[in-house]
Amino acid sequence: MGTVVTKKKRFEVEEDLEVDVGEATKQAKRVGRLSMIISAMRPSARTDGAVQGHHASSAWSKAFSKRSRLGLLPPPTETLSEPPEEYNARLTREEELRALDFHDPEGKLKYDAELPQSETEDQCAICTMYKRDTTLLCRVCGQPYHHGCLIGRGLGLDTNSSRAMENAESDIGWSCPDCETLSELLPMDNMSELMIQFDSYDADGDSVINITDYMEHETINYQQKNNESLPSSKARECEEMFRTYDRDNDGSVSWWDYSMVETIKWLQRQPQNKLLEYLKPKEIAKLRSFFRMSDKRNVGLVTVGESEQAYRGWLRALGLHETEEMMHSFEKSSWSDECNKMITWERFISSKALALITSRPNTITIKPFVTTREETAL
Ligand SMILES: [Zn+2]
Ligand SMILES: [Zn+2]
Repeated sequence: MGTVVTKKKRFEVEEDLEVDVGEATKQAKRVGRLSMIISAMRPSARTDGAVQGHHASSAWSKAFSKRSRLGLLPPPTETLSEPPEEYNARLTREEELRALDFHDPEGKLKYDAELPQSETEDQCAICTMYKRDTTLLCRVCGQPYHHGCLIGRGLGLDTNSSRAMENAESDIGWSCPDCETLSELLPMDNMSELMIQFDSYDADGDSVINITDYMEHETINYQQKNNESLPSSKARECEEMFRTYDRDNDGSVSWWDYSMVETIKWLQRQPQNKLLEYLKPKEIAKLRSFFRMSDKRNVGLVTVGESEQAYRGWLRALGLHETEEMMHSFEKSSWSDECNKMITWERFISSKALALITSRPNTITIKPFVTTREETAL
């Protein structure tokens, strides 16, 4: 600001820059947008107006330095010599990371993380022998399994599992029994509680709950609690719940069916950081590859609309495109306000952690479990 400009000179300058005045106003708005990006990404203000700060071009620094030479603006700092859009994106991401409660002690969620090479990579997880013949690789943990070892353990005998095993080498891939059994994530106390609940439904002890068992139990339960018979609206809700457990629609609910749905309810109550702890490098890498395709600047920052597009690409790749989750994602990216806001990789993976976990079960012939929850979204 120290440059002295005479009145006449300034007049000439302003005349000379008649076109640039409009440009300067635009640039000022862009500078303003930079602070908007930052404030928009702060948790307290994130729901404020849309952010469109990624259209700045090299004209920004050109106009900025011209007006600076003429003493109309302060000189640019060194960091502004970087292309503004990339600089803005990096700044936004750094600011966002400071605001986000995000823990990644193992570094597996890093944007540039690489898949670790497992020492046991070549050994079958069941017999621990080195792989030969038919081997299936788990899409979640990466462990190989001999087809024969799985069958020997009585795994893969039902239609859904055997179809999933046949598809292990397709793009959809296959999840091993350990990874797809979500109840393995439950703490012991919750697991015991769930077993007791299941037994209380399974009155005849045949290890499956049928609709009669289920409705009888719910009717008695309601009567005891409310001292009146189960109203028809509640009965319909119970029938609906039974259908949620009965994914293959065969009229019976096994322990696997029941524990899967109940574990997802439990997962929905867990904090985001807890969910992130459960994620495996291989499944993170798959979702990240779709996010990267949308991230043209390669800085780990895209618009919400682009991130949802990446998410849908991932759902499609896992054969989960005909799900409510897909519809939910379409709706989300069609809300104009949300769509143009910026989202970092870290917030994206946090909001999709539950989707990654609930996409693990093989659901080639049954209704998929994949879900996110509203409060984990932006
Ligand atoms: Zn084996
Ligand atoms: Zn696995």
